[in-house]
Amino acid sequence: MSESPAARAAALDAADELSGARKLFALDDGVYLDGNSLGALPAHVPDRVADVVRRQWGELRIRSWTEGDWWTAPERVGDRIAPLVGAAPGQVVVGDSTSVNVFKAVVGAVRLVGDSARTDVLVDASTFPTDGYIAESAARMTGRRIVPVDPGELTAALGPSTAVALVNHVDYRSGRLHDLPGLTEAVHRAGALAVWDLCHSAGALPVGLDAHGVDLAVGCTYKYLNGGPGAPAYLYVAQRHQEAFDSPLPGWTSHQDPFAMSPAYAPAPGAVRGRVGTPDILSMLALEAALDVWDGISIEAVRAKSLALTDFFLECVAAYVPAGRVETMTPAAHEERGSQVALRCADAPRVMQELIARGIVGDLRRPDVLRFGFTPLYVGFADAERAARVLAEVLAEEAGER
Ligand SMILES: *Cc1c(COP(=O)(O)O)cnc(C)c1O
Repeated sequence: MSESPAARAAALDAADELSGARKLFALDDGVYLDGNSLGALPAHVPDRVADVVRRQWGELRIRSWTEGDWWTAPERVGDRIAPLVGAAPGQVVVGDSTSVNVFKAVVGAVRLVGDSARTDVLVDASTFPTDGYIAESAARMTGRRIVPVDPGELTAALGPSTAVALVNHVDYRSGRLHDLPGLTEAVHRAGALAVWDLCHSAGALPVGLDAHGVDLAVGCTYKYLNGGPGAPAYLYVAQRHQEAFDSPLPGWTSHQDPFAMSPAYAPAPGAVRGRVGTPDILSMLALEAALDVWDGISIEAVRAKSLALTDFFLECVAAYVPAGRVETMTPAAHEERGSQVALRCADAPRVMQELIARGIVGDLRRPDVLRFGFTPLYVGFADAERAARVLAEVLAEEAGER
């Protein structure tokens, strides 16, 4: 860097076409690098939630289910998420947690495959634990076996006995981005189905579910989609599979005529089939309001800024932090990088505690990983510079103490 990192940050912020989005969020003077765990609050959401509680629930009461827009919220909010993950309308339904949707997707995918000679459910060995736990149970329940594989070895592990592969688009720990188009194609060549977990990619980079022929996908909405703590997750079932999708949780709200209260189950057509029970309206409508921040924003612009931010943060870390003190786990290649930087660091718990005390909020993945999530809608280049500078200060003080 010829100019100082601080001067470069100022120039990059001045040229940033997304810099205006930050004012849409309730933030303070700190640097919030944990939007990959809990997205920040869009500033207009509290008033919208207050209206849902006070007027829709408090005054209209039961009428809001029908006269209001409560009943259809799962599909409506799904259609708001769809363009962010490259899905045409009618394929995404919102509700339940990611864990529950992993269950629906994996069991649903095994049932779509049918063929009992296909005995294996491949699962990302480095996955966020819930996906692995649920997939194991789903495999056991469907008479299949679970085969943990490193995503780098997935292609080699595929074969005539593969039923389904459950893969994370971005690894939650390292921030590594996996090749969704290439792996989906390889899974299909093996005659199997691909289920993608988009928790760490949706809202941070283009996904292209339809374009790449993904079969099923799940994701959460409280990370880069800023839906709020415990906001409901979503399930994508590609249109070509919907007719045959046989949900393992066929709750009454996925019935083709729920109010017939029929003892016999008959699934609704389309995305509705992925519903289970009564939608979590307060969380769902908070999420719906939160999605307004995406109006007029292109996910390609978000991706470009995300890569520029993580590049710049890594440059600043290299400039400020003494060599050898941290080890970057996040891939240098753009096509292998999500929207976070993970640094391995001795004494990581104490370092992160000290960073947070100084207004730099990232998080820790035990034992030794510092995670910094870069949410392009509200993190700027000056934030990245400050975070790297404070990290270097903390590490220098630590070294002095030892
Ligand atoms: C965040 C995350 C989850 C969260 O699951 P919940 O059921 O919402 O708690 C699941 N899987 C992955 C890969 C995640 O990153």
